Amino acid sequence: MKKIQSNQDLLERSLAAVWHPCTQMKRHETLPLVPIASANGVWLTDCEGHRFIDGVSSWWVNLFGHNEPRIKAAISKQMDSVEHVMLAGFTHEPVVQLSEQLGELTGLGHAFYGSDGASATEIALKMSAHYWRNLGQPKKNRFVYLADSYHGETMGALSVTDVPIFRTAYAPLVRENFSVLSPDPRLSRKDETPEQYTARALADLERVLAEHHAEIAALIVEPLVQGAVGMAMYLPEYLAQARILCDQYGVLLIADEIAVGFGRTGTMFACEQAAIKPDLICLSKGITAGYLPLAVVLCRDEIYQAFYADESAKAFLHSHSYTGNALACAAALATLQIFRDDDVIVQNRAKAIALNAVFSPIAALPQVKNWRQRGMIWAFDVIDAPATFAQHFFQNALKAGVLLRPVGNTVYFMPPYNITEQEAVQIRQAVLYSLEQAFKSA
Ligand SMILES: *Cc1c(COP(=O)(O)O)cnc(C)c1O
Repeated sequence: MKKIQSNQDLLERSLAAVWHPCTQMKRHETLPLVPIASANGVWLTDCEGHRFIDGVSSWWVNLFGHNEPRIKAAISKQMDSVEHVMLAGFTHEPVVQLSEQLGELTGLGHAFYGSDGASATEIALKMSAHYWRNLGQPKKNRFVYLADSYHGETMGALSVTDVPIFRTAYAPLVRENFSVLSPDPRLSRKDETPEQYTARALADLERVLAEHHAEIAALIVEPLVQGAVGMAMYLPEYLAQARILCDQYGVLLIADEIAVGFGRTGTMFACEQAAIKPDLICLSKGITAGYLPLAVVLCRDEIYQAFYADESAKAFLHSHSYTGNALACAAALATLQIFRDDDVIVQNRAKAIALNAVFSPIAALPQVKNWRQRGMIWAFDVIDAPATFAQHFFQNALKAGVLLRPVGNTVYFMPPYNITEQEAVQIRQAVLYSLEQAFKSA
């Protein structure tokens, strides 16, 4: 094993040996990878000691910063008893404790585990279609999704994902489902209020449900914030009415809280802000505070009961090798313990107010429109952004010591919850600098 010698050595060997996700690898001829050697709190450090604030929580998974002693201790302690055992035919304490606690928090039950977020989406889609099949309605096997939605990139998840860069090349492999208007109020006409636009989006949903409910198993939504399209934030009213429409037309409601769950939008789960309960909920990302991959789907008891029968064909015969991994469950239990011990939801409310004040000069800039915030997510769109905006902004923000990855002309921050005001000031400075530079180099 040849030791990594320097940043340069790490970069070269990574490009030779690793196929990086979501990347045109050739672009790294000019845009260097960022080599990370260590991480602590909100800080990432490269092999030469340069430090960056993790402004996107390592792709939205980190909650309490890196190197969190309580989560590390929980994983380490779990390793002394059992690291992993198959969950078919076997069980263990961490998976039971976690399922009970998630059941209490969501009001749903019978937690079914996967590994990454996309596997939770696959589970929820298959489970909802199979539910109708078990009830003698096999024709209800299609799905409704919102325009601009993102639910993961495996083939089932892509069939309810509406982000062309992820979907176009694989369109022939993906089954057609029903897309309805996104409730994103930025899409409203000039003469419409956000409330009027929301009503129009709901009318579109109702049109599709009325016409096709006999073949629709479920509606899948990202509650309150459509993340991957660029943090589109919509009104809770949409969810409340969508819940009513799903009941009216006999269609299940899947809440994909993979990105927004675990306090990100200001409540433990985003659905709480619309006072609705979904039929199925998908959780991942923050569930282990960014330590280990884990995903879970919980459902209403009625759904579970439809699978409970003598015939094995009625059972949910789905599995992943690492289903219910004990180390990941231990990390998730430690995460939930931190929510209780540190009163995270209440603390975040105060933190968000303080950070709003820190960030407010950005909102006032002439290049900035649609400034928006929900919980611990901030986003804005850049007016007349040059074509190369996202890349230049990313590089300049790194120079200013902050990791930010704009989506097109949308800049967002989604920092770990334990970011300090002082660190947020550094994000603000990096944004001001990078905006200026991005326009200069255009
Ligand atoms: C990230 C994400 C997924 C997919 O999760 P992976 O772990 O990347 O497979 C699904 N839905 C939403 C809303 C997400 O943000």
